[in-house]
Amino acid sequence: MSEPNSPSPEEIQKKLTDFMKSQFGSHVSFSTQVSPSDEQPEPAQRGGEPFEFHHLPRDIKAHLDRYVIRQDDAKRVLAIAVCDHYNNVNYMRKLEAEDEKKARETEYTKQNVILLGPTGVGKTYLVKHVADLVGVPFVKADATKFSETGYVGGDVEDLVRELVQRANGDIDLAQYGIIYIDEVDKIASTSSPAGRDVSGRGVQTALLKLMEETEVPLRAPNDIQGQLQAALEFQRSGGRPKRQTINTRHVLFIVSGAFEKMRGVIEHRVRQSTIGFGAHPGSESDGELLEQVTTADFVEYGLEPEFIGRLPVRVVCRELSVADLFEILQRSEGSIIRQYERAFRAYGIEVFFEEAGLHRIAELAAEEKTGARGLLTVCERILRSFKYELPGSGVNRFTIDLGLIDNPEKRLAELLEQGQRALADELAAVAREFVQRLASRYNLKVELTEPALAKLVERAASDNIHMRDLCAEIFKDYEFGLKLAEGASEPLILTEEAVANPDRYLSEWLVKRYRADRKVGESPAT
Ligand code: ADP
Repeated sequence: MSEPNSPSPEEIQKKLTDFMKSQFGSHVSFSTQVSPSDEQPEPAQRGGEPFEFHHLPRDIKAHLDRYVIRQDDAKRVLAIAVCDHYNNVNYMRKLEAEDEKKARETEYTKQNVILLGPTGVGKTYLVKHVADLVGVPFVKADATKFSETGYVGGDVEDLVRELVQRANGDIDLAQYGIIYIDEVDKIASTSSPAGRDVSGRGVQTALLKLMEETEVPLRAPNDIQGQLQAALEFQRSGGRPKRQTINTRHVLFIVSGAFEKMRGVIEHRVRQSTIGFGAHPGSESDGELLEQVTTADFVEYGLEPEFIGRLPVRVVCRELSVADLFEILQRSEGSIIRQYERAFRAYGIEVFFEEAGLHRIAELAAEEKTGARGLLTVCERILRSFKYELPGSGVNRFTIDLGLIDNPEKRLAELLEQGQRALADELAAVAREFVQRLASRYNLKVELTEPALAKLVERAASDNIHMRDLCAEIFKDYEFGLKLAEGASEPLILTEEAVANPDRYLSEWLVKRYRADRKVGESPAT
């Protein structure tokens, strides 16, 4: 239905232009031209196929096993939560189609997840691969970037709009996406002498609203261009309103944090409840202790009871040992080893990793205390100069072993020297081929001595010229000169002197040959 009082696009443009001019002066104009890249994505149709979920928890675990090493408990708990969530989505969709009233009345507690664990142990990696497998969009953000009002930093609702972008404008699919918020431990409201810090609390409340159910406008209120475009679209479509909001009822929320001080909170609680029973808290690893975390512990930490209450699934990711890091390098399908192999292969260089080398990388990475992230840090530190120096150096393969990891500079120097030798051999082969072709044309034997070859290689390198071109230039008069000696049995030995003074060398050889021939001709037949 068309709204009689809605302004025309021209009126909107005029009003906005007047507004801009009043604010910024008459040199300002306002265009309603929207470039294709600025356009809000149109809701895409996925061939009319509604989103369907059909995985078993064990399928999800098996998929995660391909990429994520260890974290078996986390994989299992996450797999179950994801299956519960999306099976419920399937069920509700069907019910909504059949009996909307019943659908509205059906209660369901969403299986939102809180992941605990130190940095770099695979929390994001797990969630990303779950989203990939399920085929839903995935958005990640740090809780610290949001503020309560959305004026500073980002607005939590932007996350939902980002899901639509990730789904290429498919609003329907976006509503089944996964929003992953890291560093939620940093928005815990800490107690201070002046009372509770409210900023973190505000962000928790904003997130809570999203986690429950809310309609998020497709275009942010402060996105003037988006708002304007919406008005224009409304006009163009003859007043038929398009879907303008995204419902978060079926969005799966996963939050995470390191909760570094949680150990103290849990230990304190355990100690209090076991006083007099001879318990010795403190002997467990962080992971083991975190498994015992309770809602009260989270509240004590500074999370609002309503917030933590919306996160019924708790998953603990463990710290990774040296052996785990080694396995990540060797076995994970996403191993950075593959990245390095590809990076060097792009320059025609094959790189091989030896087990002992991988082990040392894992040991050094563990010292970084940043989980699997340390692997990349260590590899970059060691291999950066190889990536710079080796391409174009003549080296076409090398092995990353213990020796290289422990003394990369020494190995690089050796490789560069080998590369130079290989390059020289290649150039020498081109020079030899050049003279062979020349010789066979006139049925002659022509040879280059080793010092002559060395001289040619040196000049090709110093003049930065192709060996074939260099030879063609040096021996340009030989085409004609050698014709005079066609079929001679005595070989022409090209020495260093021949490279330095090619023409004189050739004419002297021809004269010598001529004299020798005459001598043979003059001498009485034997
Ligand atoms: P965080 O736990 O801080 O979210 P990430 O999941 O972002 O850490 O891990 C950073 C990178 O380290 C990943 O992209 C992945 O390459 C690697 N990684 C981390 N943990 C694992 C693991 N358990 N198995 C395989 N790779 C891992």
